[in-house]
Amino acid sequence: MIEVIEAWLRLAATRIHDEAPRLTALDQAIGDGDHGTNLDRGFAAIVASLDNGRPEAEGDQAVSAAVLRGAGKTLISTVGGAAGPLYGTCLLRAAGALAAAEPGTSASAQAVAALEAGIVGIQALGKAVPGEKTMLDALVPAAAAGRAALDAGADGGAVLGAMADAAEAGALATVPMLATKGRASYLGERSIGHQDPGSTSSALLLRALSDAVAAG
Ligand code: ADP
Ligand code: MG
Repeated sequence: MIEVIEAWLRLAATRIHDEAPRLTALDQAIGDGDHGTNLDRGFAAIVASLDNGRPEAEGDQAVSAAVLRGAGKTLISTVGGAAGPLYGTCLLRAAGALAAAEPGTSASAQAVAALEAGIVGIQALGKAVPGEKTMLDALVPAAAAGRAALDAGADGGAVLGAMADAAEAGALATVPMLATKGRASYLGERSIGHQDPGSTSSALLLRALSDAVAAG
């Protein structure tokens, strides 16, 4: 598990870096234009801490949870804006789900449970629901698609692929939405017609997870 998590965080950092200009451009349209640079700074800090070695903990499950918890804390302390605390909280809750997983739970079932726990954290903090043009519009359909694939007996790669596909479709579906949470809500009707930056970065993060698992 720990290898997959580290590979995911590193691939996510590379993709966020490469896509930072696009994320920032999306945030320039309906926000303050910092989403790409903020996330790039946060993921670079995560990679720097991965390069410093693994945390002291007993066993793969505990080390995996500790790495995810550390990444969440790093996002909270380095990203700023709305997305830093929201993504950071998401990873802290995901770490809690990993730590609590029954021994023998498949990696894909843990990924779905971790995302579900992360969403609960995002909603507790941000008080948004799907349809308000936020990252939840990518993450909530992704978790539902992952859960449905698991229930249908799909293999691990298919579960993660279904999550990434649903997140990308969810991000595209934010274009016609009216923003009612976060900075984009200040624009009112003028937020319509633009893709939400946070849903776009969420889709990118879940695609990186699917690709990291497929590569490993
Ligand atoms: P800021 O808006 O403070 O500049 P960012 O630009 O880093 O923060 O992130 C903006 C993204 O955060 C939005 O595109 C949206 O997806 C997400 N977001 C904002 N408010 C909320 C919220 N209350 N719940 C969930 N996601 C939110
Ligand atoms: Mg912003």
